[in-house]
Amino acid sequence: MGERIVSVAVDGPAGSGKSTISKLAAKILGFEYIDTGAMYRALTLKVLNKGLNPQKPEEVVSLLKDTDIDFVDNHIYLDGEMVDETIRQNIISQNVSYIAAIKEVREAMVRIQQNLAKAKSIIMDGRDIITVVLPDADFKIFVTASVEERSRRRYKELLEKGETNITLEQIMKDIERRDYIDSNREIAPLVRTEGSYLLDTTNNTIDESVNFIVSLVKRGL
Ligand code: C5P
Repeated sequence: MGERIVSVAVDGPAGSGKSTISKLAAKILGFEYIDTGAMYRALTLKVLNKGLNPQKPEEVVSLLKDTDIDFVDNHIYLDGEMVDETIRQNIISQNVSYIAAIKEVREAMVRIQQNLAKAKSIIMDGRDIITVVLPDADFKIFVTASVEERSRRRYKELLEKGETNITLEQIMKDIERRDYIDSNREIAPLVRTEGSYLLDTTNNTIDESVNFIVSLVKRGL
């Protein structure tokens, strides 16, 4: 008999802290962390590298069948190349929501994500993990924070990465636009459903938020 496979589904908007805390909680719990945003970002990278238009679904969809996106040891690979860093560039953040709104793209990603969750215990984060990918997850957590705090976090992150061509106001506009597209798209919009725990990280330390998830899972197992 194998060990029980546990799934923790985490959704939330850009900059809510979900990736940071999911990654740390996964480490403590001994689960694999699956960053689904990274998958949409990887495809966006390929679209831009090929000089295609992210706002033209037919151009994006034509790439899908020849694209391989995979996680190995918590690193993301696009067609065999590790792209952890490149997918975090601001140019990717500015275009990814167009790619993620395409039906065929979502179907392909969701299939991969559901297979990953069948294979081992995971914490998976994104926008539609509770609503679409893993509606029967053992634990469901919606992570959020004020738009000001989320913008400050993204701004700091980009400065630390050496992006100099940005202002806090611009980041806040980008985040608000991304929230709007992600929450209002026709397919799998970001929404909080009943039955998920709400974790507001605006005034939390990272440790406090990580502990929230770890305790919830440990109590429930
Ligand atoms: O989480 P992150 O900011 O890296 O996600 C990048 C983008 O990918 C989001 O703004 C959203 O458009 C898209 N996304 C999605 N569904 C997911 C994860 C991310 O649509 N499950």
